[in-house]
Amino acid sequence: MDSTPPPAAIRRLGQNFLVDPNIVRKIVALAELSPADTVLEIGPGRGILTKALSRAAGHVTAIEVDSRLHTYLSERAAHLPHVTLVLGDALTCPIEYLPIGTIVVANLPYYISTPLLFRLLSHGHRFSRMVLMLQNEVADRLIAKAGTSEYGVLSVMAQYSAHISKAFKVSPQCFRPRPEVDSAVVLLRTREPRARRPEEEHRFTALVRGAFAHRRKTLVNSLKNEGYDSRHVEAALTKLRLSPSLRAETLTLEQFLELAHCMEDDASPRAHGSLQQ
Ligand code: SAM
Repeated sequence: MDSTPPPAAIRRLGQNFLVDPNIVRKIVALAELSPADTVLEIGPGRGILTKALSRAAGHVTAIEVDSRLHTYLSERAAHLPHVTLVLGDALTCPIEYLPIGTIVVANLPYYISTPLLFRLLSHGHRFSRMVLMLQNEVADRLIAKAGTSEYGVLSVMAQYSAHISKAFKVSPQCFRPRPEVDSAVVLLRTREPRARRPEEEHRFTALVRGAFAHRRKTLVNSLKNEGYDSRHVEAALTKLRLSPSLRAETLTLEQFLELAHCMEDDASPRAHGSLQQ
């Protein structure tokens, strides 16, 4: 690449660029790429990861929202074989055209990591796995177990869609500018869809969101506030031999799935939703 300096970082766009080649190597190794693979990268930035991905995979689609960085990379496209650079917002731009089996590899912009995760998970059937750099605290929420303070909607919905492991932590020293938080790289291997029909998944998502909507209340009261009939919820809990005084954060993913199954006939007025926020 030539010596023209890259555009300065804009913090509000989550621009903490990786500068440690060792971390880039570890991320690419974790993705286990082959020349037959298609990769989606969100936020290529100055291209440090994009370049390594283009060497390991057959094709890379890289979506960048900052037009300065998009132009910077486009002018260096000769160094990025098999890369399609897209100028767009990864929260809204189309990703439905990507082939089934695409692998997502990204150092995510942290200010929107949670909505991006929900979006990627809602397209989980398209992605075989995802290797993502996130805030360490978000990585801990992804892998959190029931009964812990980190456990919430993101934990349940992510574990519903994928097997997740935290691969390694990354220090702020590995970025410029340095982020104010520690980071971690996670590997999400997407599961076979559990729901037979989209409505089932929508109902499950609405139930989980409703259960956690009022964390200080019991599960029954939180769902009641979200428009569910508390008698149906209590009856389902009794059937599952669960106490009606439980709070949402004590229910495991399997117990949420059983609860959703028991409540399938609930005609809740607001029992609609999707994985997408
Ligand atoms: N991949 C580069 C690296 O590792 O050095 C940059 C990672 S930086 C943490 C996040 C990147 O995401 C930045 O390039 C930023 O401009 C981009 N970005 C921020 N918001 C975005 C959005 N909504 N859609 C696509 N890219 C976005």
